[in-house]
Amino acid sequence: MNSGRLAEGKALTACAGPAAKSGPVTTGRLAEAERQVAHERAIVRWLAANPPPVADPNTCAHCRQPETRDAALLPFLAGDDTHRWVHGRCWSDWHRTRRLAAERALAAARDDTGPRSAA
Ligand SMILES: [Zn+2]
Repeated sequence: MNSGRLAEGKALTACAGPAAKSGPVTTGRLAEAERQVAHERAIVRWLAANPPPVADPNTCAHCRQPETRDAALLPFLAGDDTHRWVHGRCWSDWHRTRRLAAERALAAARDDTGPRSAA
């Protein structure tokens, strides 16, 4: 009957383990999640404030090629309540390019407002 007590003790230890560790780990994960959410919000705001130039609606805003039978032009939101016509196959590259521009602009803005080491 001692084995029952042992198993109970192990179960309690197992339950107490993660609970005891959850404080700092959870705080760290929360801080990281909040940082990521803030970063995503900043990107979305930048994309809305910096829509791509209006392009010819008869050509793809990414590759500048016209619609073909095999490559339809589809309207994609540009972030400012307007849309641009992009081939379905070009959308991921178009979006990645826009997102990269946003990340570069945000990084440059951070560098501008960050502490100056040389000043
Ligand atoms: Zn295209």
